[in-house]
Amino acid sequence: MKVGPISKNKILIRSLIIIVLLFTCTFILIEKIVYEKMKADAIKQILLLKEITNIRISDVFVQTKLIAEQLETNNEIHEYLREVRTRKDIWSHPLYPRVLKTLRNIQAANPTIYLAWVSNEAANFCLDSSEIITDTSFAANIRPWYQPAVASREAAFSQPYYEYTTNTLAISCVKALREEGTIKGFVSVDISLDSLPPLMQNFVIGKNGKNYLLTSTGTTVFTSENPKNKELISLTNLLPYLGPLKAKEKEYEEIELNHREYYLTYQVLDINHWGIIQLIDKKEVLEPFYKTMRVILYIFLISCLLSIAILLMNIYELRIVQQKLKKEAVTDYLTGIHNRKFFFESSQNAFESAREQQRSLSLFMIDIDKFKEINDTKGHAVGDMILKKVAEEFNQAIRKDDILCRLGGDEFAVLLMDIQEEMALVIAHRILESVSQLQIDAEKGPFRFSVSIGIAFLARTDKNFEALLNRADAALYRAKNAGRNTVSF
Ligand code: GH3
Ligand code: MG
Repeated sequence: MKVGPISKNKILIRSLIIIVLLFTCTFILIEKIVYEKMKADAIKQILLLKEITNIRISDVFVQTKLIAEQLETNNEIHEYLREVRTRKDIWSHPLYPRVLKTLRNIQAANPTIYLAWVSNEAANFCLDSSEIITDTSFAANIRPWYQPAVASREAAFSQPYYEYTTNTLAISCVKALREEGTIKGFVSVDISLDSLPPLMQNFVIGKNGKNYLLTSTGTTVFTSENPKNKELISLTNLLPYLGPLKAKEKEYEEIELNHREYYLTYQVLDINHWGIIQLIDKKEVLEPFYKTMRVILYIFLISCLLSIAILLMNIYELRIVQQKLKKEAVTDYLTGIHNRKFFFESSQNAFESAREQQRSLSLFMIDIDKFKEINDTKGHAVGDMILKKVAEEFNQAIRKDDILCRLGGDEFAVLLMDIQEEMALVIAHRILESVSQLQIDAEKGPFRFSVSIGIAFLARTDKNFEALLNRADAALYRAKNAGRNTVSF
């Protein structure tokens, strides 16, 4: 099959497209698989951390509640609150130093508890772990902890409020002190909200991650980002996403905030019904994925370039083989000059163009004289050597653009373009002369041989190349008949 330059290019382009497509598709497939795997891993890690955060923050509430419950079982406090009725009694009561010591011990033993206190039912006095307050305006029922405390049989948490005595943003865990169903007073342990953000900070994922602590009303938070900020921050832009998370329909939400993509989780604390929002920068958490993909991309690009280089090398080698085959197809295996096939292909063209452009054209038919005899007497190998030698001689005698071929056996042809008849004859005689000068060394001693040349010149009457060929044949025949070693035309 003949493969022309266009179809070769087509094959090359098709192969390139296939290579690029194959690599691109594989890359996209790998990217998808790796992405899903790494995303699943990242989510797993996020959800695990969410649970741990819940446990740690809940732990603070559980511990606080436990302490409030224990405080309420303290008989000395019961007695003290029962017997202290006036402001004077606060210091004068013999249990005063012991109660104060109990409160101070609680505060000292628990880093998250910044204040422990007791008050009587009207709260017209309050003894706390750091100072003593007596104030008639200290009405219990308007304090933020009062409602949760009277509504519950257990210790109950208040919403965050600024403490009356210290102006600290805190929550109180208050237990009503009941005797025979009547409230005799209150015991409380308070957590400063300043102690919670550093705790949450430990569980922030990534540089751009944020954790928010939401109260049970869900509208106010304390943020891990801003531990010193005593303002309660509203998270109105996040609240719409919390519905499905609160209902546990989803474990996480993928959201966009300020042109950044985040994973959002929400965890209701095991105690106190507060919630923790986790915001995790998606890009940051998937950084290992992007890193892996970058490495895979480099490997793919290098492989793709290598495949293309191998393809180009193969095509180049194929082209060389094709050129070699093409050359071999028109080359005589023995002498290395052009063969009969080439002669008939190229002489037709030469004939046509010479005729059209009215240029001169000469055809030599050259045949070795009595070659059969040489073969028979000197051996076939010597015959072959003679064929090679004469081919070299002919090649030297003609110009670069002339066409020299071995037609077969001991017969050669030469086509000479743009040459005067006289000059053609000179060349023919030169060939004859040079061949007759060749001395061949055979086993039985050196010998010489000759060739005969028949020449035909292009005539206007020549209808086709065969006409010229026939005349050259006839001339060669005449040269043979004229006794060989001669030129005839
Ligand atoms: P003439 O002078 O009339 O040409 O006599 P001739 O003996 O040369 O006769 P002809 O040209 O017909 O003989 C050609 C011979 O060439 C016949 C064959 O044995 C020999 N021959 C053909 N091909 C080869 C070849 O490749 N190598 C050798 N050594 N001999 C070949
Ligand atoms: Mg011959």
